[in-house]
Amino acid sequence: MSQDVANIKPSYPLFRDEDYTKLLDDKRARSEEPYDDERIEEVFQWTTTPQYQELNFKRQALTINPAKACQPLGAVLCSLGFRNTLPYVHGSQGCVAYFRTYFNRHFKEPIACVSDSMTEDAAVFGGQKNMFDGLKNAKALYKPEMMMVSTTCMAEVIGDDLNAFISNAKKEGHIEEDFPVPFAHTPSFVGSHTTGWDNMFEGVLRYFTLNHMDDKALGSNNKLNIVPGFEPYLGNYRVMHRMLRDMGVEYSLLCDPSEVLDTPADGQYRMYDGGTTQDEVKDAPNAIDTLLLQPWQLVKTKKHVKNVWHQPATEINIPMGLEWTDEFLMKVAELSGKAIPLSLEKERGRLVDMMTDSHAWLHGKRYALWGDADFVMGLSHFLLELGAEPVHILCHHANKRWKKAMEKMLGESPYGHSSTVYIGKDLWHLRSLVFTDKPDFMIGNSYGKFIQRDTLHKGKDFEVPLIRIGFPIFDRHHLHRDTTLGYEGAMYILKTLVNAVLARLDEATRGMGVSDFNYDLIR
Ligand code: SF4
Repeated sequence: MSQDVANIKPSYPLFRDEDYTKLLDDKRARSEEPYDDERIEEVFQWTTTPQYQELNFKRQALTINPAKACQPLGAVLCSLGFRNTLPYVHGSQGCVAYFRTYFNRHFKEPIACVSDSMTEDAAVFGGQKNMFDGLKNAKALYKPEMMMVSTTCMAEVIGDDLNAFISNAKKEGHIEEDFPVPFAHTPSFVGSHTTGWDNMFEGVLRYFTLNHMDDKALGSNNKLNIVPGFEPYLGNYRVMHRMLRDMGVEYSLLCDPSEVLDTPADGQYRMYDGGTTQDEVKDAPNAIDTLLLQPWQLVKTKKHVKNVWHQPATEINIPMGLEWTDEFLMKVAELSGKAIPLSLEKERGRLVDMMTDSHAWLHGKRYALWGDADFVMGLSHFLLELGAEPVHILCHHANKRWKKAMEKMLGESPYGHSSTVYIGKDLWHLRSLVFTDKPDFMIGNSYGKFIQRDTLHKGKDFEVPLIRIGFPIFDRHHLHRDTTLGYEGAMYILKTLVNAVLARLDEATRGMGVSDFNYDLIR
């Protein structure tokens, strides 16, 4: 073999050494019955045509590369945002391994989450016994102050009743009566990770406030509640804290995993760190109002805030980009009676300055983008503000109302007239679109890298570079630390977009003596 202890190579380039390539070729010839390269190329080219796109869009019974994850994954992120809380999944172990690795790869952090490991017998007889043992053992081993329970497909298919199981576990003494165990049914065959976040969050609100409203009075704590929703950018929790503190507003950020997902390497392992306290949740109905930062994704939460807390749950858009951050801050100022400070005014002015500086490079650039409903809406709106054109806009989990609202928003801008909005479609659909109507860039999660590779395979002129903004980002480090909300977030997005344009221009113009009359030092 081509490496020894004095010359350890990583898998790349090791597997390109002759002994490995021969091994792989032999294996392929022996066991794969492969098609010849010509046939593979012929099919590849066919998949890039409008005819194939037509067939692809008729596809009904199959999803390829979904642009969403399942409900309990969202429930786990929600659970991580509460103080000394252990996410607990009632269902199969493999699902939880998937949730943990998914977050682990995105946040580059260990993720604490347990399952009660339902197997064949539980699938037949129900998982109550698993839950009795699971709650008792997890509490004894990991000493949480709260466990938040969600479910996987298996538990939902057999119809396990969390309310009954948890009540029975308490009645039979497997866990103390007063130990908080909020729960939510999170069936993965409907909705997505954002529905799961919403369900789990509503479960917490239900547990702590549904039957405890007698001593509550609207506005009595003089606070604003902020609900982030399924938020994969740590900077977004931090920018909210900063903006609200700068304004001098009393607030509760209801769900904040930014500490536990970013613990320092100082020799101490923290299974729990930071997070919203139980007292803050209990006190939340006393607030002036609750602002939902992902208004399209927090349907159940909104209902609870309105119907149980009797708060207005004032309508806002996701505070992304210039105008929608303005609107958010003005709404906070109006509700809290606090003025927007000079520091935020200056920050806004800097963003406007940046937008003016970069406008010429972004104007008219065409983008394909995908992701969660509110993120996609916020990003599309900011692209329009920059004079860029979001042409293919895809949200796998969004509903028809969202599509209509998107089309209205796009129709109101001269840069939105060539946009098409797709719901219920996956990344294999998007792949067809970028071949048949090529945008300049794609914006989305790491999974887009395979589309970029395919476009490059067709030829350099067809390549559509991927700009990584979204969730999950597995194949680049530390982007999850950045910020996409507020003026700070708009600066990050703008910087990322314009530098992608400039890097692409360098790539296209660096041919020595051929195209380098545009290979400029100063842009
Ligand atoms: S879709 Fe169902 S089976 Fe798959 S990981 Fe999610 S809960 Fe588990």
